[in-house]
Amino acid sequence: SFKLDTNDYIAYMMETKEVIGGQKDYITELDATTGDGDHWANLYMGFEKITGMSEDLKTLNISDLLKKIGMTMFSAIGGSSGALYGSGYVAAAKAIQNENDLTINSLYTMLDAMLKAIMERGKTQPGQKTMVDSLYNALVCYRKGLEANKDEKDIIEMFINGAKEGAENTKNMEAARGRASYRTDKGVGHLDPGAVTMALQLECLGNYILH
Ligand code: ADP
Ligand code: MG
Ligand code: MG
Repeated sequence: SFKLDTNDYIAYMMETKEVIGGQKDYITELDATTGDGDHWANLYMGFEKITGMSEDLKTLNISDLLKKIGMTMFSAIGGSSGALYGSGYVAAAKAIQNENDLTINSLYTMLDAMLKAIMERGKTQPGQKTMVDSLYNALVCYRKGLEANKDEKDIIEMFINGAKEGAENTKNMEAARGRASYRTDKGVGHLDPGAVTMALQLECLGNYILH
């Protein structure tokens, strides 16, 4: 069974920074279509800041690491996503305060706390065409796997597929939050950029666990 410690989480953040880095034009275009075009730059700046501090971060326990990531995202990422990820990571840190590492159960606890904090901060429900949709759907699938007592590998695969599916589902949704909600077409027919980048991060996390 897997255990992610501080060094693992930092390594995952480094891998994710590279993956997001490679999607600059695609993500920028998504936000330019239904928003203001800065989502990639906002998020990537946050990842650069965090991965640039990795030597200092290595001394923290997993909960303090997540808290530091949240506080850095708050301050480094502009736009809505900074406050949302910031709140999400700070709540995630609190939810696993007494854990030494992330296991199949504590990872779920941590991500569920993140989801709830983002929903609270954004006053957002699933189905409103936001980053919430990929995390929510990923966790619905994760929970199904846990409840069915599946192998960890299968649960993580369900989680990854749930994240991707959650992002894809935003294409046909009408935006009720974020900039796309100000459009007359409510962004229908276009993927939500924040849902796509959330899914990318969750997919990287799942792949880090599987490989
Ligand atoms: P901004 O819209 O301020 O330029 P970004 O471009 O960085 O911020 O992020 C936009 C993304 O943030 C959207 O695609 C959406 O997924 C997410 N988002 C915006 N508002 C909310 C909200 N209230 N709740 C959840 N997610 C939101
Ligand atoms: Mg934007
Ligand atoms: Mg903006």
